[in-house]
Amino acid sequence: MTDRCSFRCVYCMPREVYDNHQYLDRSDVLTYDEIARLAGIAVGLGVTKVRLTGGEPLLRREIGTLVSMLAEIEGVNDLAMTTNALQLSKMAGDLVAKGLNRVTISLDAIDDAVFKKLIDTDVDVSVVLTAIDDAADAGLGPIKINTVLRKGWNEDQILPLAEYFRSTPHVLRFIEYMDVGTTNQWVVDDVVTAAQVAETIHAEWPIEPIEAQYAGEVAKRWRYADGEGEIGLIASVSQPFCGGCTRLRLSAEGSLYTCLFAGSGTDLRGPMRQGATDDDLTEIFTATWVARDDRYSELRGGVAISDPKVEMSYIGG
Ligand code: SAM
Ligand code: SF4
Repeated sequence: MTDRCSFRCVYCMPREVYDNHQYLDRSDVLTYDEIARLAGIAVGLGVTKVRLTGGEPLLRREIGTLVSMLAEIEGVNDLAMTTNALQLSKMAGDLVAKGLNRVTISLDAIDDAVFKKLIDTDVDVSVVLTAIDDAADAGLGPIKINTVLRKGWNEDQILPLAEYFRSTPHVLRFIEYMDVGTTNQWVVDDVVTAAQVAETIHAEWPIEPIEAQYAGEVAKRWRYADGEGEIGLIASVSQPFCGGCTRLRLSAEGSLYTCLFAGSGTDLRGPMRQGATDDDLTEIFTATWVARDDRYSELRGGVAISDPKVEMSYIGG
């Protein structure tokens, strides 16, 4: 939706880089008509799930308008959004009315001081916790909560987060900190692995693995043995799942990416603005998808990427 964000999460948009960053010009960002057109073409090729992300998707003006345009496309069975939830409380009801089915909300700590340190912005954690309740009340529940752990920063929040969301219908998902982009200065020692998270939680509240809900599900599902709910572990670094990945990403400026770790994408905005027909655009989609051979996470360390890798805030997570 946008490469801009209201937060400066240290693992995604470090303030020292992004306070003086050259963001996309408004004229370079796809309009809602353009996004809906491309989504329609993707759906014609078999896509059924659409997720709005960013940057912070709720920063796009009148995003509800786009939500209704996408909800009207026949074949979109699941319309979701990933958000930091800063503005969600006041928008949730309208987004549901316009056709949004689900939200995933990012939350890296329960402790307010730890939360503020990670998002590097002066927003109280209570704003996000309230937004989770408001979104659920508006009909967006159960909600997936995304937690990125960075060693030395918030692994002490594993149990407080688990305790907070145990016994609720929401699903807390721990994501291994990834080397997307280059500005976060990622090193492998910063990663808290899914196995470490499972061990920490299991020692307090025993957990057991459960079946995936669908092929290609990125989070490994676990449930509390005492029946108090479910958690997800996304082991993108320690147990990569490139082989099962079916995601295609469209950047805010209209490039298609077949991998989070890609150096470059396939431009659709140029052809679209020069008058390409739907058939022309379908051909570009197909050629891009058929040629894809990305498996960066499986090769991690063994691959040289020629272009600088795109940033997470540009490609959406
Ligand atoms: N701003 C929205 C949000 O934070 O939910 C949507 C965009 S954000 C890039 C999407 C997801 O990517 C978030 O859940 C965030 O925690 C995650 N993320 C960002 N940088 C990451 C990294 N280096 N490794 C793993 N996850 C990351
Ligand atoms: Fe913004 Fe989301 Fe990145 Fe945090 S993770 S800086 S909220 S885009």
